[in-house]
Amino acid sequence: MNALRQGVLRFRYRTYSGYKELFEKLSNTQKPSTLFITCADSRIDPNLLTDSVPGTLFVDRNAGNFIPEPRHPNATDSSVSASEEATIEFAIKYLKVANIVICGHSDCGAMKALMADAESIEHLPAVGSWIENGRPALHTVRAEKGWSALTPAKQLERLAKANVELQVARVSKYLGNYKKKPQVAGWYFNIGHGEVHEFIRRGKKDIWAPIEF
Ligand SMILES: [Zn+2]
Repeated sequence: MNALRQGVLRFRYRTYSGYKELFEKLSNTQKPSTLFITCADSRIDPNLLTDSVPGTLFVDRNAGNFIPEPRHPNATDSSVSASEEATIEFAIKYLKVANIVICGHSDCGAMKALMADAESIEHLPAVGSWIENGRPALHTVRAEKGWSALTPAKQLERLAKANVELQVARVSKYLGNYKKKPQVAGWYFNIGHGEVHEFIRRGKKDIWAPIEF
């Protein structure tokens, strides 16, 4: 814990001076351009990854970067799904973000848990029920041609990407008939290479391609 406190002091007395004007401007208002939904994984730093300053990204993080199916408008449960839903609703309808990014990543523990058999995660009941949000992506990839010929590492990458595709489709359900719809992008961050792939339309096909100049 002391290492973190030391970090707070370095921020307060060293780093902060470089951002003083920005933080003063942000002290009583925020106008983030983007709702950034990503995994809770410690190796992802949304601001570092997008080279953006505080105030730019409204970040929603959870293990597996899942977006639960929107609940019925009259549902009254207070589940994690409700909290995810509230975050997305706030970003879209109140903050009126222009963009929504859903960013998965390599070596994702939630994707590994999804691939593992139920017994290996039975000591993690909360994880077990949360990762069900990605189950349809697993069904999709298992039905794809060539799936069984992929190495375990490639299967994990394909599942993480299919999971992002699933969440991109789900987030559009939250947009409904909202007039000014944000742009939605699906990303995959390769931790070892520092590279981001984006799910894009090329010709008549939806493909994954690295973000390049
Ligand atoms: Zn992850």
